[in-house]
Amino acid sequence: MASLDTTTQARFELVRARIERAARAAGRDPRTVALVAVSKTFGADRIREAITAGQHRFGENYLQEAVAKILQIAAGSAADQPEWHFIGPIQSNKTRRIAESFDWVHSIDRAKVAERLAKARSSVQSELQICIQVNVSGEATKGGVAPSEAAQLAEQVAALPRLKLRGLMAVPEPTPDEALQRRRFRQLRELRDRLNRDGFAMDTLSMGMSADLEAAIAEGATLVRVGTAIFGERRG
Ligand SMILES: *Cc1c(COP(=O)(O)O)cnc(C)c1O
Repeated sequence: MASLDTTTQARFELVRARIERAARAAGRDPRTVALVAVSKTFGADRIREAITAGQHRFGENYLQEAVAKILQIAAGSAADQPEWHFIGPIQSNKTRRIAESFDWVHSIDRAKVAERLAKARSSVQSELQICIQVNVSGEATKGGVAPSEAAQLAEQVAALPRLKLRGLMAVPEPTPDEALQRRRFRQLRELRDRLNRDGFAMDTLSMGMSADLEAAIAEGATLVRVGTAIFGERRG
């Protein structure tokens, strides 16, 4: 148990150091880059270790698994409840539970899902924080709207009650080619900037994972989603 704890703590420190170094290299304040720890496939015990290590934001992809862990964590200390980010593909019949359980949703790529989330978000909860997922690498199998469709979806989301449009999210194709990583992230930033010039006020660029967070931060990421570098390799 103690050794697990030490590992989680040590990995966190490494990831935080990477974020800090990348931000400083880009002339940015490291505090402008939020870290979402992606805990999918790992149990509530590992999430608790991360909370002990000072982590506050967690990302999950699979609803059923996530809700079970959220309830387990909520049953613990009431004082230090983390912020939960849904980052996986969304089936429209799952929107109610997502709206009930999460603080952020990063993976909006169609109006119907946004409408259902808005309807399901209760008025006693704070607004659900929303990112639109954009398919910047044009992969046929990947979620996300085409860059050319982002403006229309942003307009639809911004008009909905109980949702707050915060920004754009992308999961570009994995590549060791740093120039290509940079180019994909730059595309997302430029799209966000263009939309903001057209009247949106998006403050969030959700981009960068374990293998490419440096490139994402260099291109303006305000939120990186990191799993493997914190929790280790996922099984299955
Ligand atoms: C799994 C996942 C991550 C984390 O990926 P790592 O490579 O483990 O850091 C980030 N974002 C999304 C959308 C994911 O599905």
